[in-house]
Order: sequence, then C-alpha cells, then structure tokens
Amino acid sequence: MRVRPCQAALVSAIALNLLLLFCAWRNPGAPAPLCRSPRAVPGVTVILRDFEDFESDLAGTARSFAALPVPVLVVAETPPYPPVPLPAGVALLRLHPDAAEPPPRLEMNIHTRHVALVPDGARAAPGLLERMRNALEAAGDAARLVAAPVGSKPVRCLELHVEPREWTARFSSLAAPPRTCGAVEGAAVLLLRTRDLLALPFPLARPVPTALFIQAALRRWRLLVMPAAFPAARRAPVSPHGRWKAENLAVNRRRRLMRDLGIKREVLADGSERWYGCGKETARCFGTVHAQTPQYLLAGRWTPPCCLRALRETTRHVVAALEAAGVRYWLEGGSLLGAVRLGDIIPWDYDVDLGIYREDVGKCRWLAAAATAPVEDAEGFLWEKATEGDFYRVHYSRSNRLHVDLWPFYARGAVMTKDTWLGHPQDVEFPERFLVPRVPVPFAGVTAMAPNNARAFLELKFGAGAIEKPEYPNPAVKRLEGAAEGVSPPPRGQ
Ligand code: ZN
Repeated sequence: MRVRPCQAALVSAIALNLLLLFCAWRNPGAPAPLCRSPRAVPGVTVILRDFEDFESDLAGTARSFAALPVPVLVVAETPPYPPVPLPAGVALLRLHPDAAEPPPRLEMNIHTRHVALVPDGARAAPGLLERMRNALEAAGDAARLVAAPVGSKPVRCLELHVEPREWTARFSSLAAPPRTCGAVEGAAVLLLRTRDLLALPFPLARPVPTALFIQAALRRWRLLVMPAAFPAARRAPVSPHGRWKAENLAVNRRRRLMRDLGIKREVLADGSERWYGCGKETARCFGTVHAQTPQYLLAGRWTPPCCLRALRETTRHVVAALEAAGVRYWLEGGSLLGAVRLGDIIPWDYDVDLGIYREDVGKCRWLAAAATAPVEDAEGFLWEKATEGDFYRVHYSRSNRLHVDLWPFYARGAVMTKDTWLGHPQDVEFPERFLVPRVPVPFAGVTAMAPNNARAFLELKFGAGAIEKPEYPNPAVKRLEGAAEGVSPPPRGQ
C-alpha cells in the first residue's frame, strides 16, 4: 500500500501527541529525560512574538501561517487582553510564570528543526519558509540566520559591531552590501535553527530583530537576505492614540533590552546615537569602588560611555571654574597619564584627579562655600569637601556621583606636599619645579594645565615606563589583559 504524504504527516502527528501524552503522564511536574529534548522533526515553527495587545493583527497573521500548514506558536508575557480568537491548533506560550503552574519552557513548545520569527501583519507565502530553510542549510558556516522582507519595501543590509567592553552596539551601512549582513533594517521574517535560538540567553527578548542581531553579532553569526518577500496584510491605519501607545511601549522595551544585553550606547547607521546609561538625574552606573577596582573591571568591561561622557563634562566645568577664579591646578595621577597617552580620560578610569594650590582655594567661591557645606552650582554640579580628608569633590550632580577630585597641595621648601594621603603608591610628594611653569595639554575635550615634564612627573609617581605600559589601577586585584607584554594604548574613546 502506498502511503500518501498527508497520511504520513497524520501518523507522525499522532505519534508526537502520544509521546507528549506519555511525558505528561510519566511526570507531570518535570518531564522525563526522554521527553526533555524530543528529536526535532523537519519543518519550521512560526513564532509570533512582536505584537501589541491593541490594534494588532495577531489573529490574521496566525491564521495565514497556520493554513500553510505549519505549527504556529504565539508567545507573550501574559495572554493577550482583550482575548484574541486564535485559530485551532495555534498554541500560546505564556512567559510570565504562574505560581500554580510549571515554569514556561520554550523548548517544550517547539518540535521542528527550524523556527521563523514572524512580525505582526505578515502573510504566508507558499513555499517561502522552505526556501529560506534550504538557503540556510546551503549556506553552511556563512550564515546562521536568513531574513526575508515583509511587504513591498526591501530591507536594508547593515553591518553590526558589538563592543561589550565599551558597552556599545554600532550599526553601519555599506556602499556595496556584502553577501551576508550583520542586521537588517525593515520588517522581515527571520529564520534560524531551533537549537541556535534555544542556545541564546535571550531567545524571545523584544524587539525580536534587534535582540537577535545583537546576540548573533556577539557569536559572529551572519545573516543571509532572501530576495523574495512575504506579503503584508492590508490593515486599517493605526489610530493616533494607538500609535502613541505603541511608540511609548517600544521605547521602554528597547531600554529594557539594552539593559539586559549590557548596551549603554547604540550608534545607528546614520551616525546618530541612542544612550541608555546614566544621566544627570539618575544614579551613576556603578557603585562604591573598592580596592581601586570598579565592578565593571571585574566583569571584563571598561567605564560605561555615559559615565565617561559625564566625567568629561564635569572636568570641563571644573577646569573652566578654576581658570576663571585664578586657581592654579594641574592634572594629577591617572588623569595626567590619560592626557599624555591619549589626550583623554583613560577608558577604564572612574574619576578625574586635579591638584590645586591650597592657598588658592579661597579664590573659587564654590570651593570656599564647599568648605562649610556641600553646594550645588547653577549648572547642577555639586561641590563638597570630602569627609575622608582634606580634599574636595565636584560631582556631576546630586544624584549622579561621578566626580572630579581636587587635591590641595602646598609648598614646603621646594617640595609640594599635602595633608591627606590615600596610601596609593602614586600618592607622593614632588618637587615644585614641575609646576613652574605649568603647561597646557589637551584633555577630555579641553586644554587643561599639567606639570611640565609630564613624563618625569609620571615616572616619579608610577615608576619607569608608566606611559608605555597601561595597567589597571590595582593589578593585584585585576590585571589588564596583555599588560605584561606592554600592549599599545587602547583606542581613544569618544
Ligand atoms: Zn553611566
């Protein structure tokens, strides 16, 4: 007897159901090992994830793909409200755990070897999912994702570089698009192997395309773009209120995604930037620093770009205030090191240090005022006398405590000394001749004053070769990789 394809499909569907039934019977709470990873069957499961509860096309999109027929899985934090009539056979996976239910498990809901993440409002095109799958399998190592546009507008191929150490995702467009892309711009169906999707730490984070592109870029997975497109549903125009709601949700969602992925700055293809880190109204991105080693260094990262930006801004503000008041100051310690190496704050530094003549403190009204109580200036910077000793701090703001430290020194004979010592090896007295005269150097976007013969000054404080051999502030706690070999200075931050 000849078995027709639909008969075979029916038999395998029944067998799969029996297996699932067996799993549920064997162990309702935790599935037996046999059932934990059922052998994936050929085919593509369509996942609908990026949709809103209001004015969405969820039912239409689900119906169109379910009719192909392919398995369709709707994934949402909680069931859509108001309820959406899903066609028979379309499953709903609720991601938000219910205290009375077993935890939600994506892997138990996908049985095919490939998955396609389909945007809201797409319509099925017979055979296109199979062609995407074939293209992926034919690509070998060259691509791990395949994209096909939705609607008549072609997608734009972008390059994407993710630099975790700098908390940055950088999109760029290329004059001549290569065979594969790092990301695409525009609505698209994204197909990949189920095991690849399940290997991602954030397989269903929204917005789905950005979440997938960034995680893919970190794994050097490339994306192949199909010339054929899925049709887009003809939809009633979204109401202004609906659009406003959707835009707000999208902004918050993107912010949450970037926080989860550890991205604080996105550079878009047109060169514009989106920042997700700290600002004047928020707390700074990292907590109290212990043993001169901020938490981000232990996590293998450098100073968040938002923090470097706030430090630069504070530095420019303080330098301008000191110069206007006639306070003699100079770049100290790690800040001078950064100025000499790259004309900027060292990309892993967490504060800026300036030395000042103690006798000049009274010339600056903010420093004079801070001697008695913390004072906020007109631009929202907070000046205070440190409780830890005889020095001053200028914070970026009352809530964001990124700061510039001001160390008052005075001359004793020919030597510059001070009253508070932190016990760091570089915290030592030095001959006053380094300050006579002081010399201008570029630093953090301004011209700041520095000791003359900065090299000798730095070698006196940090030891020979300090400029050429970058190292983290406390190598006993955390060493800069490659520091021992004397790597070249890191690239200049923005
Ligand atoms: Zn920050």
